[in-house]
Amino acid sequence: MNSRFEAVEKAFAHKPVKVEPPARLVSKYYGSMIFDRPAMRKYLPPETRKMIYDAIDEGVVINKDAAEYVADGMKQWALDMGATHYTHWFHPLTGGAAEKHDSFTTPVKHGESIETFTGAVLAQQEPDASSFPNGGLRNTFEARGYTAWDPSSPAFIMGDTLYIPTVFISYTGEALDYKTPLLKSITAISSAATEVAKLFDDSVSHVTSYLGWEQEYFLVDKELYELRPDLLMTERTLLGHTSAKNQQLDDHYFGAIPARVLAYVQDLEFEAYKLGIPIKTRHNEVAPNQFELAPMYEEMNRAVDHNLLVMTLMRKLADRHGFKLLLHEKPFKGVNGSGKHCNWSLGTDTGINLFSPGKTDEENLRFMTFTVVTLMAVYKHNALLKATVSSASNAYRLGANEAPPAIISSFLGTQVTGAFEELLKSKDMVKMKSKSGYKIGIPQIPELLLDNTDRNRTSPFAFTGNRFEFRAVGSSANCASSMAVLNAVVAYELREFKAAVEKLMASGMQKEQAILSTVKDYYSRCKDVCFDGNGYSEEWKKEAARRGLDCETSVPLIYDNFLTESTKKVLSETGVMSSVELEARTEVYWEIYCKKVEIEARIISDLTQNHIIPTATKYQSVLLDTVYRMKAVFDGSKFEKLSSNQVDVIEDISYHISEARDLCYRIDEECDRLDKEGDMRQRAIDYHDVIVPMMDGIRKHADDLEMIVDDEMWPLPKYRELLFIR
Ligand code: ADP
Ligand code: MG
Repeated sequence: MNSRFEAVEKAFAHKPVKVEPPARLVSKYYGSMIFDRPAMRKYLPPETRKMIYDAIDEGVVINKDAAEYVADGMKQWALDMGATHYTHWFHPLTGGAAEKHDSFTTPVKHGESIETFTGAVLAQQEPDASSFPNGGLRNTFEARGYTAWDPSSPAFIMGDTLYIPTVFISYTGEALDYKTPLLKSITAISSAATEVAKLFDDSVSHVTSYLGWEQEYFLVDKELYELRPDLLMTERTLLGHTSAKNQQLDDHYFGAIPARVLAYVQDLEFEAYKLGIPIKTRHNEVAPNQFELAPMYEEMNRAVDHNLLVMTLMRKLADRHGFKLLLHEKPFKGVNGSGKHCNWSLGTDTGINLFSPGKTDEENLRFMTFTVVTLMAVYKHNALLKATVSSASNAYRLGANEAPPAIISSFLGTQVTGAFEELLKSKDMVKMKSKSGYKIGIPQIPELLLDNTDRNRTSPFAFTGNRFEFRAVGSSANCASSMAVLNAVVAYELREFKAAVEKLMASGMQKEQAILSTVKDYYSRCKDVCFDGNGYSEEWKKEAARRGLDCETSVPLIYDNFLTESTKKVLSETGVMSSVELEARTEVYWEIYCKKVEIEARIISDLTQNHIIPTATKYQSVLLDTVYRMKAVFDGSKFEKLSSNQVDVIEDISYHISEARDLCYRIDEECDRLDKEGDMRQRAIDYHDVIVPMMDGIRKHADDLEMIVDDEMWPLPKYRELLFIR
């Protein structure tokens, strides 16, 4: 039997694998695998605990002696929990997480051993990291990279190993990872937002940035996945004719979760809860076999670590349930892609969400201030924000089915837009200050309610009631990449805003009046970034260009935005990334883009030459055989009439084979040529301009052949088999 049919049979025979929870109540085991406050209370002396808490809450540096105590307590906890190894855990620019395990075991004399773990080992490691991308930041003679402990994210245990979250930096201190700029951006926005929040309430002393991510993903049956070299190596089907039924009926979204998938998600939730990851929501997504998972939002650094951890767990646990996980943004042509919506907000230590409209005029002025500053940041840096979400894989999603377009604009909803527009029109805004506060002359503002009507799925940066939702982020991405830049640009604009208000006040204007007129001025300058209409439409593309929003779709060119003067100024002045770091990082992004496209190009060429063309040829010879035999039976005009169909198909096959083969030869040659192109930016541009269209060409012929060739012969699992879990 065709191995494809065997695989389909096996895949469809899977039964749900029910996993028992560690306890009936989640609260009984939640966080049991993290070294957080409950474990610290048991394993650390009070003074050390206080130091750690200060480090977490205020960013106070932990001294060497304290690190020694922490290491000791952490080791004891890990050993009690059954761990045998430890690792520094970091987020290199390759995506995913990196780890290198070391054993606690240290041999001592007379063939004995003890378990050791010191403060120095906890605090810093030097992984043999010369093969991580660094964009030229490390010469060979100083090829060292260091990982350094991040105490603000709790250490955790997975399997037999203690994981210590760390940053990854070069010998000269430049960031080689996603976490370092993220932590710096958290500091930057905290202080800038605190300053502005103080304009409204002097008692604010700290602002926290929050992130609530929603992770979309696809599952496919393991047996089918294994027969698709393209999925295996790129997580994307490079070939494949669309299925007659896919998502037209909208029957998957929010439907009953298939039993096997539910068992998988439950398993995942048990593991996530042990690690203190507050998974809250699970549901089917729009495309067949597409699902979503979302936790309760958390402090941003933790949220990012948790997302990375969840992605790791998802991949690991899929196997047990007979699945393979696809985090690629566009695994299947013609159906929805996967994103990672990043819900972002700012909250004060006094318990205020700075993006919550309030009941009083003061509260609403504060809300409008933070909202307009965010809009200004998105307006000025829309191209940069797009660069942070751009990748070879997300390029297939943005601007396609139900995904945000490749233009960054913001949706505010009618109520909030109405309030800003009203503000622009009103002249005498601030009435006299009274005991009950001041009065803004806009009647509807105090009644701003949460706008729950947002179903505008086309907006890449939507206001959703008490937060902004950055939807352009890709499902496989490390959200730190966009969150760090978002924090940085908003921090910068908050500082500018404060300065503008102070300038007006220095000229004698009353504070509330100064804030209001600055909000007005900001809104009138940045309102072009606001767009509530259909982001998919052609008209919007034209309108956006007219408004000066960035409409570039070529990923390598979008990356140029990391290197503009304004980017360098904003990121260096906020202390998030230096110009040197930006240059190195951009080089890495171009390189990763080239590698990803090259791998896909080589695989599609191999697949076409080794699977598709031979299969089509086999079918063609069956047809030829038929024609040959027809000729023996019928003669003259009868033969011609009866065989004309077969002859047409034979000609079609020949046409597709020769076109496809020609493109395969050319794509291989072009890849060889581009490998020698020394300028990484130019190489990436050529991969985009030359190789990607050739891949589309090959796919067209291969997919046409799939429709022609006898189903019995086709070697690769088809969309209709891959996309419907039983
Ligand atoms: P939807 O799909 O409608 O956007 P979900 O419930 O799937 O809604 O996801 C909402 C996400 O937003 C969750 O991760 C949630 O924790 C997060 N979220 C809610 N409030 C805030 C907030 N104030 N700041 C950041 N994230 C938030
Ligand atoms: Mg959402």
